[in-house]
Amino acid sequence: MACTQQFKKLFQPGRIGKMEIKNRIVMAPMATGFAELDGRYSQRQIDWYVARAKGGAGLIEFEACVVEKEICTLVQFPFNAMDTTLQIPRANELTMAVHDYGAKISIQLSLSQGKNSLGGSVENPPISASAIPSFMNPDILCRPLSIEEIKKLIQAFADACERAVWAGFDMISIHNHSGYLLDQFISPLWNKRNDEYGGDFEGRMRFPVELISAARAKVGADFPIGFRLGIDLKLEGARTHEEGLEICRHLEAAGVDVFNIDQGCPEAMPVSIAPCYYPYGLWVEDAASVKQVVGIPVITSGNNYRPDFAEKILEEGKADFILMGRPLIADPELPNKAKEGRVEEIRPCTRCNEDCIWGLMTLKGVACQVNATAGKERYYAIAPATKPKRVMVIGGGPAGMEAARVAALKGHNIVLYEKKHELGGQIRAGSKFPFRSELADLINYFRVALEKLGVKVEMGKEVTPELIAASRPEVVVVATGATPTIPAIPGIKNERVITIEDLMLNKKATGDVIIVAGGGIVGCETALFLAQEGKKLTIVETLPAAYDMNWISRMALLEMLFDKGVTISNGTIKEITEEGLIATDPEGKDQTLKADTIILALGSESENKLAKNLEDEIKELYVVGDCVTPGNLRKAIHEGFVAGWRI
Ligand SMILES: Cc1cc2nc3c(=O)[nH]c(=O)nc-3n(C[C@H](O)[C@H](O)[C@H](O)COP(=O)(O)OP(=O)(O)OC[C@H]3O[C@@H](n4cnc5c(N)ncnc54)[C@H](O)[C@@H]3O)c2cc1C
Repeated sequence: MACTQQFKKLFQPGRIGKMEIKNRIVMAPMATGFAELDGRYSQRQIDWYVARAKGGAGLIEFEACVVEKEICTLVQFPFNAMDTTLQIPRANELTMAVHDYGAKISIQLSLSQGKNSLGGSVENPPISASAIPSFMNPDILCRPLSIEEIKKLIQAFADACERAVWAGFDMISIHNHSGYLLDQFISPLWNKRNDEYGGDFEGRMRFPVELISAARAKVGADFPIGFRLGIDLKLEGARTHEEGLEICRHLEAAGVDVFNIDQGCPEAMPVSIAPCYYPYGLWVEDAASVKQVVGIPVITSGNNYRPDFAEKILEEGKADFILMGRPLIADPELPNKAKEGRVEEIRPCTRCNEDCIWGLMTLKGVACQVNATAGKERYYAIAPATKPKRVMVIGGGPAGMEAARVAALKGHNIVLYEKKHELGGQIRAGSKFPFRSELADLINYFRVALEKLGVKVEMGKEVTPELIAASRPEVVVVATGATPTIPAIPGIKNERVITIEDLMLNKKATGDVIIVAGGGIVGCETALFLAQEGKKLTIVETLPAAYDMNWISRMALLEMLFDKGVTISNGTIKEITEEGLIATDPEGKDQTLKADTIILALGSESENKLAKNLEDEIKELYVVGDCVTPGNLRKAIHEGFVAGWRI
């Protein structure tokens, strides 16, 4: 094992209270949607957390668990609980398995989302500090908790802490993320009470302070208790930075051992789960300012997977621990790879939000665009093949590269053919957008993986039926992808019409006034890139702009397009002219738009001729990715994985 000592700070042991942690990487608490319906800890969750413990994270923060269900009636989707002793056996299986790999595990105990709860009705409204509008349905007013209910919740929380210790957890984390119930008591924007749990700062802090002291009484003086807090909720009137720091001082005095500092709330969602369009380390300065006013450790998020970025935060003394969420979904082995200096082998999180947070919000559970095994660690375990086979993979896009990687891991002999002189397929063009640099890292990850696994890569070689017949492979994986759609619109052959590949890879000049034809994610990202370069942009799209992406990232992307003055024109292109184009708007009126260049982002068409020819010729044939139907990176990688895994 080559240990480069490259990331000295990241792999230095750290302490929270009296608990020693082997390194500074903390896995973020992230609801998976994998809990059993009665709140028990499922085998799927145990597999998920064990993979990340095995991968080298120092501290695992187990996802939010509710402590009570009679007052907190609107708990959503499969959510874990610690409300009865019946939760202990499975939870203990989990903590023991995580401990087997030398990681510590904390449990995030939650009083639920309060005003942010899904569902609810006038008869059964969400609970909160005050009668404020429900976030999900502002026509419903929340039900303020009575003093008796607050006391009951504090007792339930303390009892859950006791069970958690019994189950083998090493730390309690108080769930105060994103303006959840407890935070609704702390912030004057949501707490309008005039009893002892409201009013001035002392009153608004009473609930968390009493909660901490009740927890402390159950767990003892030496057991670490953490608190998650958004110093800046990014919402007018919710909290000033100065007040955030005052809250930290107050909670430290109340007995908190570590702060996990974040930002945002549901009203400002993209900030909480930063998409690729935002810079790295959005919350780092907040953590640094908390460090100035408290004497206990502070955890911050780097918002990216790069260990050098994390190392720098630690070196500059801006935080004591680095929280990693999505990067550990994308690659559970990230810490071990970083420790061993194998940075290029880390599978990068692309910060797309498509399958992790959006998978959760759409009730499918967490998955990952770049890691097909995320959430299916047991099912998709890779076992060595009983008989190695000679496999030909056609296409060096994501689908082909993933199929080759996985089949090689199983011990098969692979030759991958790519007709161009570079790997990456369609994502090569996208990887040139500065805000998409993780796509370039992803291509490099595949390149390094294939090289290390001994996959023979034949570049600049187009596979034909003759080449297949001559090579006589036992297995063929066709991953020939797709090419841009060029619709039969009058004038489309005009030389001012170019594709994204022309723009990004062939460096075709554009002039200053540009129309992007097609406003799906790819068109919108192209427009953002050019607008950031100072060009004047119009997107023409029939459907709502960026209709094909999750709404968290979409909110951020549309806001940035708006800030850059990009015009989004709702219409269907009718004709390309010498001046620009004519588009028909929803009322049927023709609009003439001028442009120096028109960039086509109208989707793609499958390149499936080769696959069709092989159907009767090859006994073991897999056809994967965009050449089946045009899709996205997740579909391509997932189908590639499954093909490699089945061979
Ligand atoms: C600009 C752009 C940005 C994008 N960004 C994103 C994104 O951020 N997220 C996302 O989810 N999706 C994105 N997509 C879509 C995504 O890139 C595709 O869904 C994905 O690349 C499909 O992968 P694939 O391997 O099936 O096909 P492709 O990427 O099309 O790769 C197929 C490869 O096969 C090669 N090939 C074809 N025929 C032969 C042959 N006969 N012999 C040898 N080689 C051959 C091609 O040269 C090509 O390299 C983007 C698409 C574009 C155009």
